[in-house]
Amino acid sequence: MRDRLFGTNGVRGVVNEDMNVQLAMNLGRAIGEFMSGKVALATDTRTSGQMLKSAVSCGLMASGSDVIDLGIVPTPALQYFVRTNPVKGGVMITASHNPPEFNGIKCVDADGTEMPREKEEQIESIYFQGSFKHRDWSAVGCQLPPVNAIEPYAAAIRSLVDVEVIKEAGMSVVLDCANGAGSTCAPDLLDTLGVRAVTLNCNPQGKFPGHPSEPTPDHLGDLISLVRETDAAMGIAQDGDADRSIFVDEEGTYLFGDKSLSIVSRFAVREKKGIVVTPVSSSSCVEDVVREEGGEILYTKVGAPIVARKMIEVDAVFGGEENGGLIFPQHQYCRDAAMTAAKMLEIVARYGPLSELVKDVPVYSLDKRKIRCPDSEKQRVLNEVASRQGDLKVDTTDGLKVYFDDGWTLIRPSGTEPIMRIYSEGKSQQSANDRGERYENLVRDLLSDGQ
Ligand code: MG
Repeated sequence: MRDRLFGTNGVRGVVNEDMNVQLAMNLGRAIGEFMSGKVALATDTRTSGQMLKSAVSCGLMASGSDVIDLGIVPTPALQYFVRTNPVKGGVMITASHNPPEFNGIKCVDADGTEMPREKEEQIESIYFQGSFKHRDWSAVGCQLPPVNAIEPYAAAIRSLVDVEVIKEAGMSVVLDCANGAGSTCAPDLLDTLGVRAVTLNCNPQGKFPGHPSEPTPDHLGDLISLVRETDAAMGIAQDGDADRSIFVDEEGTYLFGDKSLSIVSRFAVREKKGIVVTPVSSSSCVEDVVREEGGEILYTKVGAPIVARKMIEVDAVFGGEENGGLIFPQHQYCRDAAMTAAKMLEIVARYGPLSELVKDVPVYSLDKRKIRCPDSEKQRVLNEVASRQGDLKVDTTDGLKVYFDDGWTLIRPSGTEPIMRIYSEGKSQQSANDRGERYENLVRDLLSDGQ
C-alpha cells in the first residue's frame, strides 16, 4: 500500500487504476476535513476530469464543505480565484504534462500557492487514518452556483502589462495550447491584447490529439513550421494545465526555458533591482543576466512551490524554473503560462525581436546523466562525493553542486525514484561531457564499494 500520496506535483496516477474514484472521494473527504470551509474545484481538459472532480466533490460535501466548480480553467486561474475570494482552498484535477491516461489531484492553499509539504502530510494522515468526523444529514455541504474564474484572472494579467505598447506593436503570433486548459483562456487574452493569434490545438480535447502536452521541441513541429511560414513575432506553447509557457522566436528557433527565464529576469531586475529565485539546477545564464543587471540570485531546492515560498520570504522581484514555469510576484506566487506570455509580448513589443533578445543570454552546454542508485545508498554516496571535492566550492542546497572555473556539476538524488541525477554545465559541450563522465564514474565506483 502507498504510505505517501502526494508527490512533487500532487497525487498522480493512471485513471481507474491507482487514480480511481474511491481514492478521489476519500481524498476529497480528507481535504474537506482539513480545509473545513468553502473549496473551489477545477479541472484541465482530460477525459477523466469530470469523473474525478465529481468524486472529490462528493467527498468534500460529505465533510461539510461547500464546493464551487470553476469548470475547465488553467491551474493559475484556479489559484488566482482562491487567493481573491473567501474560500479555504482549492483542488485542481490535472496531471499537467503527463500522457492522457494519467490524472492527478493537487491542493491549493488559501493564499493561492501550491500547498506546502507539511500541510499535504496532514491531509495524508487524515486519509490514511480514515479519521473522518461523523456528521449528521444537516451538516453536509452543497454545490454553489458556477462562477467564471477566467475573466477576473485575465483582467489581472492585463493590468500588469502595458496593453497599449503591445497593441501598438501590431504583432501576430502562433499559439499552441496542446488541447489543454490554456485553450479556455489564452486565445481570448491575446485577442484583448490586440495580438493576432493563429491558433493550433486550442480546442479543449482530453486525449491531446494534437501532440503530447509537454511543450518539448519534438512535440512542437507544427508550431515551429507555422511560425516560419508566417510573419509571427513568436510562437507560444503551453503545457496541459497552462502553468508553463515555452517560446519559439520569430525565426522558428525553439527556446529552451532557461532562455525565457533569463530574458524575463533581465527586465524584471532592470525595472526593480532585487532578488531572483530559481532552483540550483537552473543554468548559470540566469545568474549571469541577473548580475549584469545589478540584481542578486538566490538558489533553492528543486520544485516550484519551494521557489514560490522563498520568493515570498525574501520579497523577490522575480523567480521561476527553466521548464517555462515563471512566477510574477506582482500577480501571484505560482507559475503562470498566460502571465508569462503577456509579459513576453510586452518585452518583445518594446525591445524585440525575440531572436535578438536571446543573443544577449550567455550560452552554456549541459550534460545530463542518471544512474540507478538504491534509496538506502543515496546519502552515503553523496557524502563520499562531497568528501572528495578538496578546495572546490560546493553548495548543498539540493544534493551536491560543485563549482568549477567554467561551470558546475550537480549530483542530486531523485525524490521519487532509485536514481541519482548528474547535471554538468560548462562553457563548451566537451567540458560538460568530460565532467559528467568523471562524476558518473566516481558515483559508480562508490556504489560498487558499498556492495
Ligand atoms: Mg503544468
